[in-house]
Amino acid sequence: MKLRYLTYHQTADAPVVSDVHVIPQPQFEMQIDWLCNCGIPVLDAHALAKQEFGQPYVVGLTFDDGCESDLLNARYLKSRGLNGIFFVSTARIDMPGYLARAQILEMRDMGMLIGSHSHEHRALNLMPLDEARKQMALSKQILEELLGQTVDHIAFPGGGHNGDVVMGAHEVGFRYVFTTIWGANHIKGTTSAVLYRDTVVRGMSLERFKDIVLGRNELMRRSKYWCKQAAHGLLPRAAYSALRRRFIDG
Ligand SMILES: [Zn+2]
Repeated sequence: MKLRYLTYHQTADAPVVSDVHVIPQPQFEMQIDWLCNCGIPVLDAHALAKQEFGQPYVVGLTFDDGCESDLLNARYLKSRGLNGIFFVSTARIDMPGYLARAQILEMRDMGMLIGSHSHEHRALNLMPLDEARKQMALSKQILEELLGQTVDHIAFPGGGHNGDVVMGAHEVGFRYVFTTIWGANHIKGTTSAVLYRDTVVRGMSLERFKDIVLGRNELMRRSKYWCKQAAHGLLPRAAYSALRRRFIDG
């Protein structure tokens, strides 16, 4: 069984910020509409725990950061008979631009799955393991108290993780850990997988989006991903951003 997760962050009517993760609302809706009609099933967010896919290849939807636009996008998904996993950084709940407690509950009641994006959205691989564990455990506790249900899913902020962070996530009780490593997941009945995801960015054409969903040019895309990772580690931030805009995200 092959499962490809897509990752969104924030949507806006007319994004003016330089962050490539903020995408125009029409771009998001066009992608979701195409997804609904492309013949590839969209995974019920709750089905990963049940291990019931019923199809050889499915696509799952995830949203990072707990931005206010999540509520709008959850409603859009629901209007199309879909759902997704929304990863929330708990220190940001009720802050301007982010989801409020009541909105998170509304999304739960719409059938969306709420996961953790740690507490403060700091890179978990760049802090002592004890602290990373506390960040994860605290967010789990806050969300479980709010939702009245177990929170099994976590996405690492910025994708920052290593073997210790993954182990720490499992130790504090998360069953499913999500990275930002591009690629499809080959699921073989495991309940503790480290899951890959493909990030959707602003400026991505519908054709490029289709490539991702359909798994076209997979090798080239994965090569680009690892080049991006190498450049990220080697170049100053401004040079990296320019390179990314020119060669990777476009
Ligand atoms: Zn994030």
